[in-house]
Amino acid sequence: MSKEALVFYSAVDDPAAWREALTAELPELDFRVAPEIGDPSEVSYALVWSPPAGFFAGFPNLKLVTNLGAGVDALVRRDDLVPVPISRLNDPGMVQMMASYIIFAVTRYARDIPVFEEAQRRGEWTYVHPRALSEIRVGVLGLGELGGPAAAALARMGFTVSGWSRSAKRIEGVTSFTGRDGLEHILSDSEIVVVLVPLTRDSEGLIGAAELALMKKGAKLVNASRGRLVDEPALIAALASGHLGGATLDVFVEEPLPASHTLWTTPNVLITPHIASITVPSGAARDVAESIRRVRRGEPPLHEVHPMRGY
Ligand code: NDP
Repeated sequence: MSKEALVFYSAVDDPAAWREALTAELPELDFRVAPEIGDPSEVSYALVWSPPAGFFAGFPNLKLVTNLGAGVDALVRRDDLVPVPISRLNDPGMVQMMASYIIFAVTRYARDIPVFEEAQRRGEWTYVHPRALSEIRVGVLGLGELGGPAAAALARMGFTVSGWSRSAKRIEGVTSFTGRDGLEHILSDSEIVVVLVPLTRDSEGLIGAAELALMKKGAKLVNASRGRLVDEPALIAALASGHLGGATLDVFVEEPLPASHTLWTTPNVLITPHIASITVPSGAARDVAESIRRVRRGEPPLHEVHPMRGY
Protein backbone atom coordinates (compact mmCIF):
# COMPACT_ATOMS: atom_id res chain seq x y z
CA MET A 1 0.00 0.00 0.00
CA SER A 2 1.39 3.45 -0.90
CA LYS A 3 1.91 5.99 1.85
CA GLU A 4 -0.67 8.66 2.56
CA ALA A 5 0.89 12.02 3.37
CA LEU A 6 -0.06 15.53 4.47
CA VAL A 7 1.95 18.55 3.38
CA PHE A 8 2.32 21.46 5.83
CA TYR A 9 3.19 24.99 4.72
CA SER A 10 3.24 28.11 6.87
CA ALA A 11 5.70 30.90 7.48
CA VAL A 12 4.05 31.71 10.82
CA ASP A 13 2.85 28.45 12.40
CA ASP A 14 5.08 25.98 14.22
CA PRO A 15 5.37 22.73 12.21
CA ALA A 16 6.71 20.80 15.22
CA ALA A 17 3.62 21.59 17.31
CA TRP A 18 1.34 20.63 14.44
CA ARG A 19 3.28 17.42 13.73
CA GLU A 20 2.96 16.38 17.36
CA ALA A 21 -0.75 17.25 17.60
CA LEU A 22 -1.74 15.66 14.32
CA THR A 23 0.39 12.55 14.71
CA ALA A 24 -1.33 11.91 18.05
CA GLU A 25 -4.64 11.82 16.15
CA LEU A 26 -3.51 10.09 12.95
CA PRO A 27 -0.28 8.13 13.61
CA GLU A 28 -0.41 6.46 10.18
CA LEU A 29 -0.37 9.78 8.29
CA ASP A 30 3.02 10.91 7.00
CA PHE A 31 3.48 14.58 8.05
CA ARG A 32 5.74 16.42 5.61
CA VAL A 33 6.86 20.03 5.96
CA ALA A 34 7.30 21.89 2.66
CA PRO A 35 9.69 22.08 0.88
CA GLU A 36 10.69 18.54 2.10
CA ILE A 37 7.74 16.86 0.42
CA GLY A 38 9.19 13.59 -0.91
CA ASP A 39 7.02 11.96 -3.59
CA PRO A 40 4.27 14.55 -4.25
CA SER A 41 1.90 11.87 -5.58
CA GLU A 42 1.64 10.50 -2.01
CA VAL A 43 0.29 13.81 -0.68
CA SER A 44 -3.49 13.67 -0.16
CA TYR A 45 -3.94 16.57 2.28
CA ALA A 46 -2.55 20.11 2.54
CA LEU A 47 -2.52 22.07 5.80
CA VAL A 48 -1.46 25.55 4.76
CA TRP A 49 -1.25 29.27 5.45
CA SER A 50 -0.43 31.46 2.42
CA PRO A 51 1.57 28.97 0.34
CA PRO A 52 3.40 30.34 -2.74
CA ALA A 53 1.60 30.66 -6.09
CA GLY A 54 1.22 27.35 -7.91
CA PHE A 55 1.72 25.34 -4.70
CA PHE A 56 -1.36 23.12 -5.06
CA ALA A 57 -0.67 22.10 -8.68
CA GLY A 58 2.37 20.18 -7.44
CA PHE A 59 0.19 17.50 -5.79
CA PRO A 60 -1.76 15.41 -8.35
CA ASN A 61 -3.66 13.38 -5.72
CA LEU A 62 -4.73 16.17 -3.36
CA LYS A 63 -8.11 15.51 -1.72
CA LEU A 64 -8.41 18.29 0.87
CA VAL A 65 -6.93 21.73 1.55
CA THR A 66 -7.18 22.96 5.14
CA ASN A 67 -6.51 26.64 5.82
CA LEU A 68 -4.39 27.16 8.96
CA GLY A 69 -6.77 29.74 10.38
CA ALA A 70 -10.38 30.94 10.38
CA GLY A 71 -10.10 33.72 7.80
CA VAL A 72 -9.96 32.28 4.29
CA ASP A 73 -10.12 35.54 2.29
CA ALA A 74 -6.52 35.22 1.06
CA LEU A 75 -6.99 31.54 0.13
CA VAL A 76 -10.29 31.71 -1.76
CA ARG A 77 -9.19 34.75 -3.78
CA ARG A 78 -6.26 32.82 -5.31
CA ASP A 79 -6.49 31.83 -8.95
CA ASP A 80 -4.42 28.65 -8.51
CA LEU A 81 -6.89 26.69 -6.35
CA VAL A 82 -7.51 23.08 -7.35
CA PRO A 83 -11.05 21.60 -7.31
CA VAL A 84 -10.89 19.79 -3.95
CA PRO A 85 -12.81 20.57 -0.75
CA ILE A 86 -11.42 23.41 1.36
CA SER A 87 -11.85 23.56 5.09
CA ARG A 88 -10.84 26.08 7.72
CA LEU A 89 -9.78 25.70 11.32
CA ASN A 90 -12.00 26.12 14.28
CA ASP A 91 -11.13 25.09 17.79
CA PRO A 92 -12.48 25.87 21.23
CA GLY A 93 -9.34 27.81 22.14
CA MET A 94 -9.76 30.12 19.15
CA VAL A 95 -13.45 30.70 19.93
CA GLN A 96 -12.66 31.49 23.58
CA MET A 97 -9.82 33.81 22.65
CA MET A 98 -11.96 35.80 20.20
CA ALA A 99 -14.78 36.03 22.75
CA SER A 100 -12.29 37.32 25.34
CA TYR A 101 -11.09 40.05 22.97
CA ILE A 102 -14.63 41.15 22.13
CA ILE A 103 -15.68 41.08 25.80
CA PHE A 104 -12.60 43.16 26.67
CA ALA A 105 -13.22 45.74 23.94
CA VAL A 106 -16.95 46.07 24.61
CA THR A 107 -16.59 46.11 28.41
CA ARG A 108 -13.85 48.72 28.21
CA TYR A 109 -16.33 51.07 26.52
CA ALA A 110 -19.34 50.01 28.58
CA ARG A 111 -17.46 50.74 31.82
CA ASP A 112 -16.04 54.09 30.56
CA ILE A 113 -12.45 52.88 30.99
CA PRO A 114 -11.03 55.19 28.25
CA VAL A 115 -12.45 58.16 30.21
CA PHE A 116 -10.64 57.00 33.37
CA GLU A 117 -7.40 56.30 31.48
CA GLU A 118 -7.50 59.82 30.12
CA ALA A 119 -8.37 61.30 33.54
CA GLN A 120 -5.50 59.41 35.18
CA ARG A 121 -3.05 60.82 32.64
CA ARG A 122 -4.21 64.29 33.83
CA GLY A 123 -4.08 63.18 37.49
CA GLU A 124 -7.80 63.81 37.87
CA TRP A 125 -10.50 61.93 39.79
CA THR A 126 -13.28 61.96 37.18
CA TYR A 127 -16.45 60.29 38.36
CA VAL A 128 -18.78 58.80 35.74
CA HIS A 129 -21.78 57.01 37.18
CA PRO A 130 -21.78 53.40 35.92
CA ARG A 131 -24.69 52.25 33.78
CA ALA A 132 -26.45 48.91 33.88
CA LEU A 133 -25.10 46.63 31.15
CA SER A 134 -28.64 45.93 29.98
CA GLU A 135 -28.92 49.60 28.96
CA ILE A 136 -26.01 49.21 26.58
CA ARG A 137 -26.94 48.00 23.12
CA VAL A 138 -24.26 46.08 21.27
CA GLY A 139 -24.50 45.02 17.63
CA VAL A 140 -22.39 42.11 16.39
CA LEU A 141 -22.00 41.94 12.60
CA GLY A 142 -21.26 38.30 11.70
CA LEU A 143 -22.67 35.45 13.77
CA GLY A 144 -20.42 32.62 12.60
CA GLU A 145 -18.10 30.23 14.43
CA LEU A 146 -16.41 33.17 16.21
CA GLY A 147 -19.04 35.93 16.04
CA GLY A 148 -21.89 33.71 17.30
CA PRO A 149 -20.20 32.65 20.56
CA ALA A 150 -18.88 36.19 21.12
CA ALA A 151 -22.42 37.61 20.77
CA ALA A 152 -23.79 34.90 23.07
CA ALA A 153 -21.10 35.66 25.67
CA LEU A 154 -21.98 39.38 25.62
CA ALA A 155 -25.67 38.51 26.05
CA ARG A 156 -24.85 36.23 29.01
CA MET A 157 -22.99 39.13 30.61
CA GLY A 158 -26.15 41.21 30.43
CA PHE A 159 -25.62 43.46 27.41
CA THR A 160 -28.58 43.98 25.07
CA VAL A 161 -27.25 42.28 21.95
CA SER A 162 -28.34 42.28 18.32
CA GLY A 163 -26.59 40.27 15.63
CA TRP A 164 -26.42 40.42 11.83
CA SER A 165 -25.76 37.58 9.43
CA ARG A 166 -26.83 36.41 5.97
CA SER A 167 -29.26 33.85 7.34
CA ALA A 168 -31.38 34.36 10.48
CA LYS A 169 -29.96 32.82 13.68
CA ARG A 170 -31.33 31.56 16.96
CA ILE A 171 -28.82 32.46 19.65
CA GLU A 172 -30.07 32.86 23.20
CA GLY A 173 -30.21 36.52 24.19
CA VAL A 174 -29.29 37.76 20.71
CA THR A 175 -31.87 39.41 18.42
CA SER A 176 -31.15 38.28 14.89
CA PHE A 177 -31.22 40.62 11.87
CA THR A 178 -30.46 40.05 8.19
CA GLY A 179 -30.32 42.08 4.99
CA ARG A 180 -29.53 45.74 4.38
CA ASP A 181 -32.46 46.84 6.55
CA GLY A 182 -31.13 44.73 9.41
CA LEU A 183 -27.65 46.22 9.04
CA GLU A 184 -28.98 49.76 9.06
CA HIS A 185 -31.14 49.01 12.09
CA ILE A 186 -28.18 47.65 14.05
CA LEU A 187 -25.88 50.51 13.04
CA SER A 188 -28.38 53.17 14.08
CA ASP A 189 -29.52 51.36 17.23
CA SER A 190 -26.22 50.22 18.81
CA GLU A 191 -23.83 52.05 21.06
CA ILE A 192 -21.06 49.60 20.27
CA VAL A 193 -20.76 47.81 16.91
CA VAL A 194 -18.49 44.77 16.56
CA VAL A 195 -17.35 43.67 13.09
CA LEU A 196 -16.83 39.91 12.68
CA VAL A 197 -18.03 39.39 9.11
CA PRO A 198 -15.49 37.62 6.91
CA LEU A 199 -13.87 39.57 4.07
CA THR A 200 -15.56 38.61 0.81
CA ARG A 201 -16.47 40.31 -2.47
CA ASP A 202 -19.83 41.23 -0.85
CA SER A 203 -18.47 42.49 2.45
CA GLU A 204 -15.43 44.53 1.36
CA GLY A 205 -16.01 48.13 2.48
CA LEU A 206 -19.10 47.08 4.47
CA ILE A 207 -18.57 49.99 6.87
CA GLY A 208 -18.06 53.11 4.78
CA ALA A 209 -18.89 56.79 5.26
CA ALA A 210 -22.65 56.19 4.83
CA GLU A 211 -22.71 53.36 7.40
CA LEU A 212 -20.60 55.34 9.89
CA ALA A 213 -23.01 58.27 9.47
CA LEU A 214 -25.87 55.95 10.48
CA MET A 215 -24.17 55.17 13.79
CA LYS A 216 -25.21 57.09 16.90
CA LYS A 217 -23.12 60.11 17.85
CA GLY A 218 -20.43 58.89 20.22
CA ALA A 219 -20.86 55.22 19.23
CA LYS A 220 -17.85 52.89 19.22
CA LEU A 221 -16.61 50.48 16.56
CA VAL A 222 -14.66 47.27 17.20
CA ASN A 223 -13.09 45.53 14.18
CA ALA A 224 -11.51 42.13 14.80
CA SER A 225 -12.19 40.61 11.40
CA ARG A 226 -10.27 42.12 8.48
CA GLY A 227 -9.17 45.71 7.82
CA ARG A 228 -10.77 45.92 4.37
CA LEU A 229 -14.27 45.63 5.84
CA VAL A 230 -13.96 49.20 7.08
CA ASP A 231 -13.15 52.27 4.97
CA GLU A 232 -10.17 53.56 6.98
CA PRO A 233 -10.19 57.19 5.71
CA ALA A 234 -13.95 57.40 6.44
CA LEU A 235 -13.35 55.94 9.92
CA ILE A 236 -10.57 58.45 10.62
CA ALA A 237 -12.85 61.30 9.50
CA ALA A 238 -15.71 60.05 11.71
CA LEU A 239 -13.38 59.83 14.72
CA ALA A 240 -11.73 63.19 14.04
CA SER A 241 -15.11 64.94 13.76
CA GLY A 242 -16.25 63.39 17.06
CA HIS A 243 -19.20 61.64 15.40
CA LEU A 244 -17.68 58.33 16.46
CA GLY A 245 -16.59 58.12 20.09
CA GLY A 246 -13.92 55.46 19.67
CA ALA A 247 -12.60 52.49 17.75
CA THR A 248 -10.80 49.32 18.80
CA LEU A 249 -8.94 47.94 15.82
CA ASP A 250 -7.09 44.63 15.62
CA VAL A 251 -6.93 44.47 11.82
CA PHE A 252 -5.92 46.92 9.11
CA VAL A 253 -5.82 47.32 5.35
CA GLU A 254 -2.04 47.17 5.59
CA GLU A 255 -0.40 45.01 8.26
CA PRO A 256 1.81 45.75 10.07
CA LEU A 257 0.19 49.18 10.27
CA PRO A 258 2.86 51.56 8.85
CA ALA A 259 4.53 53.83 11.42
CA SER A 260 3.36 56.89 9.47
CA HIS A 261 -0.32 55.82 9.40
CA THR A 262 -2.82 58.43 10.62
CA LEU A 263 -4.64 55.84 12.75
CA TRP A 264 -1.72 55.79 15.21
CA THR A 265 -2.47 59.40 16.13
CA THR A 266 -6.24 59.52 15.57
CA PRO A 267 -8.00 60.33 18.87
CA ASN A 268 -9.84 57.56 20.75
CA VAL A 269 -8.34 54.65 18.82
CA LEU A 270 -7.00 51.51 20.49
CA ILE A 271 -4.72 49.52 18.20
CA THR A 272 -3.77 45.89 18.74
CA PRO A 273 -1.51 43.98 16.32
CA HIS A 274 -3.88 41.31 14.89
CA ILE A 275 -3.91 39.24 18.07
CA ALA A 276 -7.64 38.90 18.75
CA SER A 277 -7.45 35.14 18.33
CA ILE A 278 -5.02 32.45 17.25
CA THR A 279 -5.25 28.75 16.58
CA VAL A 280 -4.16 26.34 19.27
CA PRO A 281 -2.76 23.24 17.44
CA SER A 282 -3.52 20.79 20.26
CA GLY A 283 -7.23 21.69 20.07
CA ALA A 284 -7.52 22.29 16.33
CA ALA A 285 -5.75 19.04 15.32
CA ARG A 286 -8.79 17.05 16.44
CA ASP A 287 -10.96 18.74 13.81
CA VAL A 288 -8.26 18.51 11.12
CA ALA A 289 -8.00 14.77 11.78
CA GLU A 290 -11.77 14.36 11.74
CA SER A 291 -11.96 16.18 8.40
CA ILE A 292 -9.33 13.81 6.98
CA ARG A 293 -11.31 10.78 8.23
CA ARG A 294 -14.47 12.20 6.65
CA VAL A 295 -12.77 12.84 3.31
CA ARG A 296 -11.39 9.27 3.40
CA ARG A 297 -15.01 8.07 3.76
CA GLY A 298 -16.10 10.29 0.85
CA GLU A 299 -17.86 12.80 3.13
CA PRO A 300 -17.42 16.60 3.24
CA PRO A 301 -14.84 17.87 5.79
CA LEU A 302 -15.71 19.82 8.93
CA HIS A 303 -15.89 23.63 8.62
CA GLU A 304 -16.07 23.46 4.84
CA VAL A 305 -15.47 26.72 3.01
CA HIS A 306 -17.48 27.70 -0.06
CA PRO A 307 -15.07 29.49 -2.42
CA MET A 308 -17.84 31.10 -4.49
CA ARG A 309 -19.45 32.53 -1.33
CA GLY A 310 -16.02 33.52 -0.07
CA TYR A 311 -16.17 32.03 3.45
P1 NDP B 1 -17.67 32.38 9.78
O1 NDP B 1 -17.37 32.16 8.34
O2 NDP B 1 -17.89 31.20 10.66
O3 NDP B 1 -19.00 33.28 9.91
C1 NDP B 1 -19.21 34.39 9.14
C2 NDP B 1 -20.49 35.09 9.60
O4 NDP B 1 -20.65 36.29 8.83
C3 NDP B 1 -21.73 34.25 9.37
O5 NDP B 1 -22.67 34.50 10.37
C4 NDP B 1 -22.25 34.78 8.03
O6 NDP B 1 -23.64 34.62 7.85
C5 NDP B 1 -21.90 36.24 8.14
N1 NDP B 1 -21.73 36.85 6.81
C6 NDP B 1 -20.85 36.54 5.85
N2 NDP B 1 -21.00 37.33 4.78
C7 NDP B 1 -22.04 38.14 5.07
C8 NDP B 1 -22.70 39.18 4.36
N3 NDP B 1 -22.32 39.52 3.11
N4 NDP B 1 -23.74 39.79 4.96
C9 NDP B 1 -24.14 39.44 6.20
N5 NDP B 1 -23.54 38.47 6.94
C10 NDP B 1 -22.51 37.84 6.37
O7 NDP B 1 -16.53 33.33 10.35
P2 NDP B 1 -15.92 33.35 11.85
O8 NDP B 1 -16.98 33.79 12.80
O9 NDP B 1 -15.22 32.09 12.14
O10 NDP B 1 -14.79 34.46 11.68
C11 NDP B 1 -15.07 35.76 11.25
C12 NDP B 1 -13.79 36.41 10.77
O11 NDP B 1 -12.93 36.70 11.86
C13 NDP B 1 -12.91 35.56 9.87
O12 NDP B 1 -13.37 35.57 8.52
C14 NDP B 1 -11.57 36.22 9.99
O13 NDP B 1 -11.41 37.20 8.97
C15 NDP B 1 -11.63 36.93 11.33
N6 NDP B 1 -10.64 36.43 12.29
C16 NDP B 1 -9.82 37.35 12.88
C17 NDP B 1 -8.89 36.95 13.80
C18 NDP B 1 -8.04 37.94 14.51
O14 NDP B 1 -7.12 37.55 15.22
N7 NDP B 1 -8.30 39.23 14.38
C19 NDP B 1 -8.71 35.53 14.14
C20 NDP B 1 -9.64 34.65 13.48
C21 NDP B 1 -10.57 35.10 12.57
P3 NDP B 1 -24.33 33.15 7.77
O15 NDP B 1 -24.13 32.55 9.13
O16 NDP B 1 -25.74 33.42 7.48
O17 NDP B 1 -23.57 32.42 6.71
